[in-house]
Amino acid sequence: MAGGDANPEWSDRDEALIKAARKLAARHMVRDGDGFKLSKHDPADIGAFENGDHPLIPDAAAGSRKEATKDLLADGVRIVSRMQDMLYAQDRWSVLLVFQAMDAAGKDGVIKHVMSGINPQGCEVHSFKAPSAEELDHDFMWRCTRLAPRRGMIGIFNRSYYEEVLVVRIHREYLPKQRLPRELVTKDIWDERFKDIRSYERYMARNGTIVRKFFLNVSRDEQKKRFLERIDDPAKNWKFSAADVAERAHWDEYMDAYEDMIRNTATDFAPWSVVPADNKWYTRLVVAATVIDALASVDLHYPALDDAGRAKLADARAQLMAE
Ligand code: ATP
Ligand code: MG
Repeated sequence: MAGGDANPEWSDRDEALIKAARKLAARHMVRDGDGFKLSKHDPADIGAFENGDHPLIPDAAAGSRKEATKDLLADGVRIVSRMQDMLYAQDRWSVLLVFQAMDAAGKDGVIKHVMSGINPQGCEVHSFKAPSAEELDHDFMWRCTRLAPRRGMIGIFNRSYYEEVLVVRIHREYLPKQRLPRELVTKDIWDERFKDIRSYERYMARNGTIVRKFFLNVSRDEQKKRFLERIDDPAKNWKFSAADVAERAHWDEYMDAYEDMIRNTATDFAPWSVVPADNKWYTRLVVAATVIDALASVDLHYPALDDAGRAKLADARAQLMAE
């Protein structure tokens, strides 16, 4: 696995799956934001699955694609879960997964499905909504940085400090609530925030946190369709908020803000994945693949005992057997 070495933890099929996952992840990953153009990323893209000729799904014609991709996601979830077990046991690295998207792009569903195989003890999900009075009384990163994952853990941010260059940029009226000293609020504020975010993520990476960021790229039409489903299906009514429709009116401004955000904060140490989000099955596969890629990018292994440790184990065994 890591460093290209074969890892005895994995079967040949698993090795093939990990390789395919890393290829799929790379297809949607932006490691250098320079010149990034959102318009080049199709929300309906389903990559190599288009013709049903994906190497891991032989004969996946349109009809059987659904089942086949379900199996593939189950495989991905199983691999994520085993990698997470090693991450936890090794207790050196941590993983921070940041999710940003327009409403109804599928953040909650992705988090639920991709993380479903993970030991709850090794994973923490934090959702960031409109900030509280206490949160507004601090620097903009504060509420997030204090919840960064411990070593061995996977931390998930459902929305994050990136809201500070998205919703706050579009709704400028939110900025005064942050009570920044007036002379610090200039036209450069967004660039300064980008710079500070880059520095923070570099700092995290240098301290052993693997940072991966996901923009679930849903189209305006698909969002409308999902809103209507939420309105028409009583079981989904709870997910709908009239405020989401008002937010939709700012669609183009949001897209500009997302594009600028990715341009300024996609880096080698904290890449963005621009995940096509019009097809939920594909979104989930790409996110699972990207989590696998992140975990496979470091040397994960179960801690090995030294001679003294092994001798202690042998003693303990002898004691138990003598009872
Ligand atoms: P979600 O919309 O993430 O699925 P939700 O609908 O349960 O979750 P909401 O009450 O809509 O939760 O909270 C999310 C809202 O909070 C978003 O509209 C987001 O833009 C807003 N928000 C998040 N962070 C900030 C921030 N720093 N300043 C202002 N608004 C923010
Ligand atoms: Mg909402």
